[in-house]
Amino acid sequence: MPAESAAPARYPDSFKEWFLALRFAAMHVLCFAAIWTGVPWEAVALAAALYAVRMFGVTAGYHRYFSHRTYKMGRVMQFLMAFLAQTSMQRGVLWWAAHHRHHHKHSDEPEDVHSVRQDGFFWSHVGWVISPQWRDTDISSVRDLARYPELRLLQRFHHVPALIVAFLCFAFFGWAGLVVGFLWSTVAVWHSTFTINSLAHVYGSRRYETEDDSKNNFLLALLTFGEGWHNNHHHYQASTRQGFYWWEIDITYYILWTMSKVGLVSDLREPPRHVVEDRPHPAVALRKAAKQARSDFDERMKELKERARLARQEASQRADDLGREMATRIEDMTHDIEERVDQLRDSVESVRRGAHDRLEHLASEATVKVDGLSQEMAMRMANLRTNAEDASDRAARAIDEIAEVTQIQMQTGTSTSQA
Ligand SMILES: [Zn+2]
Ligand SMILES: [Zn+2]
Repeated sequence: MPAESAAPARYPDSFKEWFLALRFAAMHVLCFAAIWTGVPWEAVALAAALYAVRMFGVTAGYHRYFSHRTYKMGRVMQFLMAFLAQTSMQRGVLWWAAHHRHHHKHSDEPEDVHSVRQDGFFWSHVGWVISPQWRDTDISSVRDLARYPELRLLQRFHHVPALIVAFLCFAFFGWAGLVVGFLWSTVAVWHSTFTINSLAHVYGSRRYETEDDSKNNFLLALLTFGEGWHNNHHHYQASTRQGFYWWEIDITYYILWTMSKVGLVSDLREPPRHVVEDRPHPAVALRKAAKQARSDFDERMKELKERARLARQEASQRADDLGREMATRIEDMTHDIEERVDQLRDSVESVRRGAHDRLEHLASEATVKVDGLSQEMAMRMANLRTNAEDASDRAARAIDEIAEVTQIQMQTGTSTSQA
Protein backbone atom coordinates (compact mmCIF):
# COMPACT_ATOMS: atom_id res chain seq x y z
CA MET A 1 0.00 0.00 0.00
CA PRO A 2 1.33 3.46 -0.84
CA ALA A 3 0.30 4.70 2.63
CA GLU A 4 3.02 2.50 4.15
CA SER A 5 5.85 4.23 2.28
CA ALA A 6 4.48 7.75 2.95
CA ALA A 7 5.72 9.74 5.97
CA PRO A 8 3.56 9.21 9.07
CA ALA A 9 0.81 11.77 9.60
CA ARG A 10 1.25 14.56 12.14
CA TYR A 11 -2.31 14.31 13.49
CA PRO A 12 -4.45 11.21 14.21
CA ASP A 13 -5.69 9.94 10.86
CA SER A 14 -7.06 6.48 11.71
CA PHE A 15 -9.29 4.79 14.24
CA LYS A 16 -6.25 3.35 16.01
CA GLU A 17 -4.56 6.74 16.27
CA TRP A 18 -7.71 8.43 17.55
CA PHE A 19 -8.09 5.64 20.09
CA LEU A 20 -4.51 6.14 21.34
CA ALA A 21 -4.97 9.91 21.59
CA LEU A 22 -8.27 9.56 23.42
CA ARG A 23 -6.81 6.96 25.75
CA PHE A 24 -4.10 9.48 26.65
CA ALA A 25 -6.76 12.11 27.34
CA ALA A 26 -8.86 9.57 29.25
CA MET A 27 -5.98 8.91 31.67
CA HIS A 28 -6.31 12.57 32.71
CA VAL A 29 -10.09 12.50 32.92
CA LEU A 30 -10.04 9.31 34.99
CA CYS A 31 -8.03 11.13 37.66
CA PHE A 32 -11.32 12.82 38.58
CA ALA A 33 -12.66 9.40 39.59
CA ALA A 34 -11.12 10.30 42.96
CA ILE A 35 -14.40 12.15 43.52
CA TRP A 36 -15.92 8.71 44.04
CA THR A 37 -12.90 6.79 45.40
CA GLY A 38 -11.94 9.47 47.87
CA VAL A 39 -8.35 10.54 48.60
CA PRO A 40 -7.12 8.49 51.57
CA TRP A 41 -3.67 9.32 52.93
CA GLU A 42 -2.28 5.85 52.03
CA ALA A 43 -3.27 6.46 48.42
CA VAL A 44 -1.60 9.89 48.51
CA ALA A 45 1.53 8.35 50.06
CA LEU A 46 1.42 5.64 47.42
CA ALA A 47 1.15 8.29 44.71
CA ALA A 48 4.10 10.19 46.20
CA ALA A 49 6.17 7.04 46.41
CA LEU A 50 5.25 5.98 42.88
CA TYR A 51 6.00 9.49 41.64
CA ALA A 52 9.45 9.39 43.25
CA VAL A 53 10.35 5.87 42.19
CA ARG A 54 9.11 6.27 38.64
CA MET A 55 10.59 9.74 38.22
CA PHE A 56 13.88 8.18 39.23
CA GLY A 57 13.23 5.41 36.65
CA VAL A 58 12.68 8.04 33.95
CA THR A 59 15.72 10.22 34.72
CA ALA A 60 18.20 7.56 35.86
CA GLY A 61 16.92 4.90 33.44
CA TYR A 62 15.40 6.29 30.25
CA HIS A 63 17.46 9.45 30.25
CA ARG A 64 20.86 9.15 31.91
CA TYR A 65 21.45 5.46 31.24
CA PHE A 66 19.60 4.32 28.10
CA SER A 67 19.67 7.58 26.15
CA HIS A 68 23.10 8.86 27.17
CA ARG A 69 24.95 5.86 28.69
CA THR A 70 26.52 8.10 31.33
CA TYR A 71 27.23 5.24 33.76
CA LYS A 72 27.38 1.46 33.80
CA MET A 73 25.44 -1.41 35.32
CA GLY A 74 25.11 -5.15 34.97
CA ARG A 75 22.63 -6.78 32.65
CA VAL A 76 20.11 -7.68 35.38
CA MET A 77 20.22 -4.15 36.78
CA GLN A 78 19.85 -2.83 33.25
CA PHE A 79 16.69 -4.93 32.78
CA LEU A 80 15.29 -3.85 36.14
CA MET A 81 16.02 -0.22 35.34
CA ALA A 82 14.26 -0.50 31.98
CA PHE A 83 11.33 -2.23 33.68
CA LEU A 84 11.14 0.50 36.32
CA ALA A 85 11.31 3.24 33.70
CA GLN A 86 8.53 1.60 31.70
CA THR A 87 6.21 1.58 34.73
CA SER A 88 5.92 5.33 33.97
CA MET A 89 3.93 4.47 30.84
CA GLN A 90 6.21 6.42 28.52
CA ARG A 91 6.43 3.69 25.89
CA GLY A 92 9.31 1.26 25.45
CA VAL A 93 12.89 1.93 26.46
CA LEU A 94 14.08 1.81 22.82
CA TRP A 95 11.39 4.27 21.72
CA TRP A 96 12.25 6.69 24.54
CA ALA A 97 16.02 6.58 23.97
CA ALA A 98 15.71 6.81 20.16
CA HIS A 99 13.50 9.90 20.32
CA HIS A 100 15.60 11.53 22.99
CA ARG A 101 18.81 10.98 21.02
CA HIS A 102 17.03 12.51 18.03
CA HIS A 103 16.18 15.55 20.20
CA HIS A 104 19.83 16.08 21.09
CA LYS A 105 20.91 15.61 17.50
CA HIS A 106 18.51 18.29 16.23
CA SER A 107 17.83 20.39 19.33
CA ASP A 108 15.47 23.23 18.42
CA GLU A 109 16.12 22.71 14.72
CA PRO A 110 13.24 21.99 12.32
CA GLU A 111 13.85 18.21 12.63
CA ASP A 112 13.58 18.28 16.45
CA VAL A 113 10.99 15.86 17.85
CA HIS A 114 9.75 18.39 20.37
CA SER A 115 10.83 22.00 20.06
CA VAL A 116 8.99 25.01 21.46
CA ARG A 117 10.97 27.21 19.09
CA GLN A 118 9.81 25.22 16.06
CA ASP A 119 6.33 23.96 16.92
CA GLY A 120 5.11 25.84 19.97
CA PHE A 121 4.48 24.88 23.57
CA PHE A 122 1.61 22.41 23.22
CA TRP A 123 3.38 20.32 20.59
CA SER A 124 6.65 20.16 22.53
CA HIS A 125 4.81 19.26 25.74
CA VAL A 126 2.27 16.60 24.64
CA GLY A 127 1.50 17.05 20.94
CA TRP A 128 4.45 14.97 19.75
CA VAL A 129 3.70 12.23 22.32
CA ILE A 130 0.27 11.48 20.88
CA SER A 131 1.17 12.25 17.26
CA PRO A 132 1.41 9.29 14.81
CA GLN A 133 4.45 11.12 13.41
CA TRP A 134 6.73 9.84 16.18
CA ARG A 135 5.04 6.53 16.90
CA ASP A 136 7.74 4.32 15.35
CA THR A 137 11.21 3.68 16.73
CA ASP A 138 14.32 4.29 14.61
CA ILE A 139 16.29 1.22 15.70
CA SER A 140 19.42 2.44 13.87
CA SER A 141 19.88 5.10 16.56
CA VAL A 142 19.64 2.62 19.47
CA ARG A 143 21.57 -0.41 18.17
CA ASP A 144 23.60 -0.51 21.39
CA LEU A 145 20.35 -1.20 23.29
CA ALA A 146 18.50 -3.24 20.69
CA ARG A 147 21.15 -5.96 20.83
CA TYR A 148 19.68 -7.09 24.17
CA PRO A 149 16.67 -9.38 23.56
CA GLU A 150 15.22 -8.62 27.01
CA LEU A 151 15.10 -4.92 26.14
CA ARG A 152 13.50 -5.69 22.79
CA LEU A 153 10.92 -7.81 24.67
CA LEU A 154 10.18 -4.96 27.08
CA GLN A 155 9.86 -2.62 24.12
CA ARG A 156 7.38 -4.95 22.45
CA PHE A 157 5.20 -5.30 25.56
CA HIS A 158 5.84 -1.80 26.80
CA HIS A 159 2.57 -1.50 28.76
CA VAL A 160 3.18 -4.61 30.85
CA PRO A 161 5.33 -3.04 33.63
CA ALA A 162 2.80 -0.21 34.14
CA LEU A 163 -0.12 -2.64 34.06
CA ILE A 164 1.55 -4.77 36.75
CA VAL A 165 2.03 -1.67 38.94
CA ALA A 166 -1.58 -0.61 38.32
CA PHE A 167 -2.81 -4.08 39.25
CA LEU A 168 -0.73 -4.10 42.46
CA CYS A 169 -2.05 -0.66 43.41
CA PHE A 170 -5.60 -1.90 42.95
CA ALA A 171 -4.87 -5.20 44.69
CA PHE A 172 -3.36 -3.59 47.80
CA PHE A 173 -5.13 -0.21 47.98
CA GLY A 174 -8.34 -0.69 46.04
CA TRP A 175 -9.89 1.90 43.72
CA ALA A 176 -8.26 4.82 45.52
CA GLY A 177 -4.92 3.03 45.09
CA LEU A 178 -5.58 2.74 41.37
CA VAL A 179 -6.95 6.24 40.80
CA VAL A 180 -4.96 8.35 43.26
CA GLY A 181 -1.96 6.10 43.77
CA PHE A 182 -1.43 5.00 40.18
CA LEU A 183 -3.25 7.41 37.85
CA TRP A 184 -2.40 10.64 39.67
CA SER A 185 1.27 9.75 39.94
CA THR A 186 1.40 8.50 36.36
CA VAL A 187 -0.05 11.73 34.98
CA ALA A 188 2.19 13.75 37.33
CA VAL A 189 5.32 11.91 36.14
CA TRP A 190 4.22 12.42 32.55
CA HIS A 191 3.86 16.15 32.85
CA SER A 192 6.97 16.56 34.99
CA THR A 193 8.91 14.69 32.33
CA PHE A 194 7.28 16.70 29.55
CA THR A 195 8.21 20.03 31.20
CA ILE A 196 11.83 19.26 30.36
CA ASN A 197 10.90 19.15 26.68
CA SER A 198 8.75 22.27 26.91
CA LEU A 199 9.38 24.58 29.90
CA ALA A 200 13.09 23.75 30.22
CA HIS A 201 13.53 25.15 26.72
CA VAL A 202 11.63 28.32 27.63
CA TYR A 203 12.03 29.40 31.27
CA GLY A 204 15.25 29.58 33.24
CA SER A 205 18.81 30.77 32.95
CA ARG A 206 21.48 29.85 30.46
CA ARG A 207 24.99 29.25 31.79
CA TYR A 208 26.24 27.85 28.50
CA GLU A 209 25.74 29.24 25.02
CA THR A 210 24.38 26.04 23.50
CA GLU A 211 22.87 26.09 20.01
CA ASP A 212 19.44 25.25 21.44
CA ASP A 213 17.20 27.15 23.87
CA SER A 214 17.83 24.85 26.88
CA LYS A 215 17.58 26.47 30.30
CA ASN A 216 18.61 25.74 33.88
CA ASN A 217 15.53 25.89 36.11
CA PHE A 218 15.70 25.26 39.86
CA LEU A 219 11.99 24.44 40.31
CA LEU A 220 11.99 22.01 37.40
CA ALA A 221 15.16 20.45 38.79
CA LEU A 222 13.34 19.80 42.09
CA LEU A 223 10.25 18.48 40.32
CA THR A 224 12.19 16.16 38.01
CA PHE A 225 14.94 15.08 40.40
CA GLY A 226 17.69 17.02 38.66
CA GLU A 227 16.55 17.17 35.04
CA GLY A 228 15.86 20.90 35.37
CA TRP A 229 19.59 21.61 34.90
CA HIS A 230 18.79 21.18 31.25
CA ASN A 231 21.20 23.79 29.91
CA ASN A 232 24.03 22.01 31.77
CA HIS A 233 22.82 18.78 30.22
CA HIS A 234 22.66 20.13 26.66
CA HIS A 235 26.14 21.59 27.20
CA TYR A 236 27.58 18.23 28.31
CA GLN A 237 25.38 15.16 27.86
CA ALA A 238 27.98 12.60 28.89
CA SER A 239 27.84 13.49 32.58
CA THR A 240 25.74 11.42 35.00
CA ARG A 241 25.18 14.44 37.18
CA GLN A 242 23.29 17.33 35.70
CA GLY A 243 23.67 19.72 38.62
CA PHE A 244 27.25 20.84 38.04
CA TYR A 245 27.63 22.77 41.31
CA TRP A 246 26.76 21.70 44.87
CA TRP A 247 23.77 24.04 45.04
CA GLU A 248 22.31 22.58 41.86
CA ILE A 249 20.16 19.94 43.54
CA ASP A 250 20.18 16.69 41.57
CA ILE A 251 18.32 13.96 43.50
CA THR A 252 18.78 11.37 40.74
CA TYR A 253 22.52 11.81 40.97
CA TYR A 254 22.51 11.48 44.78
CA ILE A 255 20.61 8.19 44.51
CA LEU A 256 22.86 6.87 41.72
CA TRP A 257 25.94 7.92 43.70
CA THR A 258 24.63 5.94 46.70
CA MET A 259 23.87 2.99 44.45
CA SER A 260 27.41 3.15 43.06
CA LYS A 261 28.75 2.97 46.63
CA VAL A 262 27.00 -0.35 47.14
CA GLY A 263 27.95 -1.68 43.72
CA LEU A 264 24.56 -1.59 42.00
CA VAL A 265 25.86 0.77 39.35
CA SER A 266 29.35 1.97 38.46
CA ASP A 267 31.46 4.43 36.47
CA LEU A 268 29.33 7.49 37.09
CA ARG A 269 30.67 10.21 34.87
CA GLU A 270 31.40 13.69 36.13
CA PRO A 271 31.58 16.77 33.96
CA PRO A 272 35.27 17.64 33.43
CA ARG A 273 36.40 20.86 35.06
CA HIS A 274 37.03 22.60 31.77
CA VAL A 275 33.48 21.68 30.67
CA VAL A 276 31.93 23.11 33.83
CA GLU A 277 34.02 26.27 33.46
CA ASP A 278 33.24 26.30 29.74
CA ARG A 279 36.88 26.30 28.70
CA PRO A 280 38.29 24.14 25.92
CA HIS A 281 39.84 20.78 26.89
CA PRO A 282 43.50 21.37 28.00
CA ALA A 283 44.77 19.22 25.11
CA VAL A 284 42.48 21.03 22.73
CA ALA A 285 43.58 24.35 24.20
CA LEU A 286 47.22 23.32 23.76
CA ARG A 287 46.56 22.17 20.21
CA LYS A 288 44.71 25.38 19.55
CA ALA A 289 47.57 27.43 21.05
CA ALA A 290 50.10 25.49 18.95
CA LYS A 291 47.96 25.99 15.88
CA GLN A 292 47.61 29.66 16.74
CA ALA A 293 51.37 29.98 17.26
CA ARG A 294 51.99 28.24 13.94
CA SER A 295 49.50 30.41 12.18
CA ASP A 296 50.97 33.51 13.90
CA PHE A 297 54.44 32.40 12.79
CA ASP A 298 53.22 31.79 9.25
CA GLU A 299 51.47 35.11 9.31
CA ARG A 300 54.62 36.84 10.60
CA MET A 301 56.77 35.08 7.98
CA LYS A 302 54.35 36.10 5.31
CA GLU A 303 54.44 39.64 6.62
CA LEU A 304 58.27 39.62 6.71
CA LYS A 305 58.46 38.15 3.22
CA GLU A 306 56.06 40.80 2.02
CA ARG A 307 58.10 43.47 3.76
CA ALA A 308 61.33 42.10 2.22
CA ARG A 309 59.66 42.05 -1.17
CA LEU A 310 58.49 45.64 -0.70
CA ALA A 311 61.92 46.70 0.55
CA ARG A 312 63.53 44.99 -2.44
CA GLN A 313 61.06 46.66 -4.72
CA GLU A 314 61.66 50.01 -3.05
CA ALA A 315 65.44 49.56 -3.21
CA SER A 316 65.26 48.67 -6.86
CA GLN A 317 62.92 51.59 -7.41
CA ARG A 318 65.32 53.86 -5.57
CA ALA A 319 68.27 52.49 -7.50
CA ASP A 320 66.34 53.13 -10.68
CA ASP A 321 65.43 56.63 -9.49
CA LEU A 322 69.01 57.26 -8.41
CA GLY A 323 70.33 55.98 -11.72
CA ARG A 324 67.89 58.15 -13.54
CA GLU A 325 68.76 61.12 -11.34
CA MET A 326 72.48 60.50 -11.83
CA ALA A 327 72.02 60.20 -15.57
CA THR A 328 70.03 63.42 -15.58
CA ARG A 329 72.65 65.11 -13.44
CA ILE A 330 75.51 63.82 -15.58
CA GLU A 331 73.61 64.97 -18.63
CA ASP A 332 73.03 68.34 -17.00
CA MET A 333 76.68 68.54 -15.98
CA THR A 334 77.84 67.53 -19.43
CA HIS A 335 75.55 70.11 -20.87
CA ASP A 336 76.84 72.63 -18.38
CA ILE A 337 80.45 71.76 -19.12
CA GLU A 338 79.80 71.91 -22.83
CA GLU A 339 78.13 75.24 -22.34
CA ARG A 340 81.05 76.45 -20.28
CA VAL A 341 83.59 75.15 -22.79
CA ASP A 342 81.64 76.94 -25.47
CA GLN A 343 81.58 80.06 -23.38
CA LEU A 344 85.28 79.64 -22.68
CA ARG A 345 85.96 79.04 -26.33
CA ASP A 346 83.90 82.12 -27.16
CA SER A 347 85.67 84.19 -24.58
CA VAL A 348 89.10 82.92 -25.73
CA GLU A 349 88.06 83.73 -29.28
CA SER A 350 86.89 87.16 -28.27
CA VAL A 351 90.08 87.74 -26.27
CA ARG A 352 92.09 86.52 -29.20
CA ARG A 353 90.07 88.71 -31.54
CA GLY A 354 90.45 91.62 -29.15
CA ALA A 355 94.20 91.11 -28.95
CA HIS A 356 94.42 90.80 -32.67
CA ASP A 357 92.42 93.96 -33.16
CA ARG A 358 94.50 95.71 -30.62
CA LEU A 359 97.72 94.52 -32.19
CA GLU A 360 96.51 95.63 -35.57
CA HIS A 361 95.50 98.90 -34.09
CA LEU A 362 98.86 99.25 -32.37
CA ALA A 363 100.66 98.26 -35.53
CA SER A 364 98.75 100.81 -37.57
CA GLU A 365 99.27 103.38 -34.86
CA ALA A 366 102.99 102.58 -34.83
CA THR A 367 103.14 102.77 -38.60
CA VAL A 368 101.48 106.12 -38.46
CA LYS A 369 103.87 107.25 -35.75
CA VAL A 370 106.93 105.89 -37.58
CA ASP A 371 105.70 107.59 -40.72
CA GLY A 372 105.28 110.81 -38.80
CA LEU A 373 108.67 110.43 -37.19
CA SER A 374 110.44 109.63 -40.42
CA GLN A 375 108.78 112.61 -42.08
CA GLU A 376 109.83 114.74 -39.18
CA MET A 377 113.33 113.29 -39.31
CA ALA A 378 113.54 113.93 -43.03
CA MET A 379 112.33 117.42 -42.44
CA ARG A 380 114.79 117.91 -39.71
CA MET A 381 117.55 116.39 -41.74
CA ALA A 382 116.63 118.74 -44.57
CA ASN A 383 116.62 121.58 -42.15
CA LEU A 384 119.93 120.49 -40.72
CA ARG A 385 121.35 120.12 -44.18
CA THR A 386 120.07 123.57 -45.05
CA ASN A 387 121.44 124.92 -41.85
CA ALA A 388 124.78 123.19 -42.47
CA GLU A 389 124.88 124.47 -45.98
CA ASP A 390 124.10 127.92 -44.65
CA ALA A 391 126.74 127.61 -42.00
CA SER A 392 129.31 126.39 -44.47
CA ASP A 393 128.39 129.21 -46.79
CA ARG A 394 128.74 131.61 -43.99
CA ALA A 395 131.98 130.03 -42.95
CA ALA A 396 133.29 130.20 -46.47
CA ARG A 397 132.29 133.78 -46.66
CA ALA A 398 133.86 134.46 -43.31
CA ILE A 399 137.02 132.78 -44.42
CA ASP A 400 136.90 134.75 -47.53
CA GLU A 401 136.41 137.92 -45.60
CA ILE A 402 139.17 136.97 -43.22
CA ALA A 403 141.38 136.14 -46.09
CA GLU A 404 140.64 139.44 -47.72
CA VAL A 405 141.21 141.29 -44.49
CA THR A 406 144.47 139.52 -44.01
CA GLN A 407 145.61 140.26 -47.51
CA ILE A 408 144.81 143.92 -47.06
CA GLN A 409 146.72 144.02 -43.83
CA MET A 410 149.66 142.37 -45.30
CA GLN A 411 149.69 144.64 -48.12
CA THR A 412 149.49 147.72 -45.81
CA GLY A 413 152.37 146.40 -43.57
CA THR A 414 154.77 145.97 -46.42
CA SER A 415 154.12 149.43 -47.67
CA THR A 416 154.94 151.03 -44.27
CA SER A 417 158.15 149.05 -43.76
CA GLN A 418 159.37 150.17 -47.16
CA ALA A 419 158.37 153.65 -46.25
ZN1 LIG B 1 19.35 14.25 27.22
ZN1 LIG C 1 16.40 19.47 25.54
